[in-house]
Amino acid sequence: MKTDRLIEELYREHTLSDEDYRLLIEGLRQEIREIDPGELYQLLRKDPETSHPDRPILQLFHRAQQVRESVYQKEVYLRGLIEFTNVCKNNCYYCGIRAGNAQAERYRLSKEQILACADQGYHLGFRTIVLQGGEDPYYDDAMICDIVRGIKQQHADCAVTLSIGEKEKESYQAYYDAGADRYLLRHETANEQHYKQLHPDSMSWQHRRKCLYDLKEIGYQVGCGMMVGSPGQTTDHLIEDIRFMQELGPHMIGIGPFIPHKDTPCREEKPGTLYDTLILLAVMRMTYPRVLLPATTALGTIHPLGRELGLLAGANVVMPNLSPGDVREKYLLYDGKICTGDEAAECRHGMERRVASVGYQVLVSRGDWRGQS
Ligand code: SF4
Repeated sequence: MKTDRLIEELYREHTLSDEDYRLLIEGLRQEIREIDPGELYQLLRKDPETSHPDRPILQLFHRAQQVRESVYQKEVYLRGLIEFTNVCKNNCYYCGIRAGNAQAERYRLSKEQILACADQGYHLGFRTIVLQGGEDPYYDDAMICDIVRGIKQQHADCAVTLSIGEKEKESYQAYYDAGADRYLLRHETANEQHYKQLHPDSMSWQHRRKCLYDLKEIGYQVGCGMMVGSPGQTTDHLIEDIRFMQELGPHMIGIGPFIPHKDTPCREEKPGTLYDTLILLAVMRMTYPRVLLPATTALGTIHPLGRELGLLAGANVVMPNLSPGDVREKYLLYDGKICTGDEAAECRHGMERRVASVGYQVLVSRGDWRGQS
């Protein structure tokens, strides 16, 4: 069948023509609907030789696992996430902490609180701390640099990842000079018209692109990504995303399903699906074998086995939450987010069990990108 052949071609060549990517993604979507997630989970944990090797969807996930294991073996990297501010000056139409959401209860963490979370994370075995927040002007460059330096002084063997949105190149350079190692900035969509559908006129696709190229030029390990099933997204948009990422060469790709938030203009939109996200994860793994690919919290939110299935589809990173318990439920980019009540230690150990349940192993390590370019 055509889909089988395309999976093998992607496995070998790490790329397809636009038309073949379309045929592959759409063909797999049809087929995967026939399997229940629980059944899929059981089938993927079995030996590929005995678990219906004739089914293209299983062939896809097994090939994706082979690719990830050829680079990262059975290792899964932990990132300790500190959501340090839910204040944002922007108004992305899909986001629960957008400036225009008067229902959001806002908070900011002090440097001392952030360092205490990082310290707790270190003792729990995290060697990457991710500082994530809205675009909050309260934290100027000097404050961000001071916080990054503070974490590095406490724990020199920890990587620091920033995820604080669009800035000018001088700011990115200052954070890098202060010790930041990585930067996550989802591109959201490679199609300019689609970008305009998701963002107000005050935001520009050109500037988002420029930020990503600036970050790469400075020397960060750079992460981009998009929501699967975002309002207005088509298969052609996804193919444009793949081409954009082939050009940018990110070290990380963050993809999770779109989940609507009740207090946003996208409240009535249909959520992205578990299956579409899993297919995209596997296609990403085979297209970019060395990329760091998280099984996201959003994936765990749309299905209880979402993160386990994400790992079985080629993901190799998980990001448990280290934010203080009393602010967790205020950092709601979308509805129904899981883990808002768990303590950091609970999240960490629960994650270790989930990872072990699919035959992988959490590593106490910075978990850097492995590759040449
Ligand atoms: S997606 Fe990011 S930039 Fe946009 S409103 Fe939400 S936090 Fe702000």
